[in-house]
Amino acid sequence: MKKSTLLLFLTIAAIVLNSSCNQKKSEKIAFGGEAQGTYYSITYFDSLNRNFQPQIDSLLKAFDQSLSLWVENSIISRVNNNDTSASIDPLFEVVFNTSQMISEASGGAFDITVGPLVKAWGFSFKKGVNPDQNMIDSLHQLVGYHRVKLVNHKLIKDDPRIQVDFNAIAQGYSSDVIGDFLESKGITNYLVDVGGEIIGKGSKPDDKPWIVGIEKPADSATAERVVTKKIKLKDQAVATSGSYRKYFEKDGKRYSHTIDPATGKPVDHHLLSVSVIAPSAILADGYATAFMVMGTKKALEFLDNHPELQAFFIESDNKGGYIESYSKSFKTLIDSTTVVKE
Ligand code: ADP
Ligand code: MG
Repeated sequence: MKKSTLLLFLTIAAIVLNSSCNQKKSEKIAFGGEAQGTYYSITYFDSLNRNFQPQIDSLLKAFDQSLSLWVENSIISRVNNNDTSASIDPLFEVVFNTSQMISEASGGAFDITVGPLVKAWGFSFKKGVNPDQNMIDSLHQLVGYHRVKLVNHKLIKDDPRIQVDFNAIAQGYSSDVIGDFLESKGITNYLVDVGGEIIGKGSKPDDKPWIVGIEKPADSATAERVVTKKIKLKDQAVATSGSYRKYFEKDGKRYSHTIDPATGKPVDHHLLSVSVIAPSAILADGYATAFMVMGTKKALEFLDNHPELQAFFIESDNKGGYIESYSKSFKTLIDSTTVVKE
């Protein structure tokens, strides 16, 4: 090595060493709370050691003011009540447009206009009755994602009785919105989990990927959560839809809270849970619900043409056991270095 080259090399090495010594260590910040009728849990690394919990709590409140069916004067509630003064905000717009895109892609398996049917089934089951076929038929006529449109910040419906329901997708989007907020503060390594819809960006300081657990189907709505698989999440999101935790029960039979828009009835197959890995939590959440309606076989065919999505399916074998299926590249995401209790 020439003397001048050696000198240059040593200078660069000294600069690199010096700047890495000057870099402040990133502190781990972790907190959680309640939102959207469920929990949230956030972890990130910040060299400035900032705690953004109050800002994130306000952000989640603002989110519900737009998209929650449980908030009486939210934009979605006002739209469902045909309040023509309700103006659509950017959160609503993103969720609406993404929902319509997933409806189109899934051949209508995903459909936000199932609202009246979701209400009827839930309400009827609380009263211990099945909605009769006449009722299903009349509410089914109100279903059709192409019957609602956004025009000049207003939701235009074909029929005033149409009601929209964002519960299959809004929670996922809230994880993305929190992630975007953290990025706006210069944070690039974070894990955001809102009720099991999770986005992981960057990595931990030792460059290890974020690891998240996928839950084993539970026997009842209140059973303890047990992890069946651990997956590595690098700049990706995961969401799980399941018929094992949220369901209606009548005469010992469980009915899913996912409605098949084609029949107007709860989906009725052996699929207990679907976990989807996608570039954003809104897509993971929306597609998890769509796949729940499509069933494993159709969903796997769909995934063959959508390499940006990966999924993991757990079906019941009807003998108390489980059958697991994966999309092509899902296995590469499984973390085999951590032991999982079976
Ligand atoms: P979870 O993650 O709790 O399993 P999902 O994300 O699957 O929940 O969303 C289920 C909710 O989505 C239902 O409670 C209902 O409000 C709504 N929903 C039901 N069926 C559909 C459907 N086919 N398309 C879009 N939304 C639906
Ligand atoms: Mg969903």
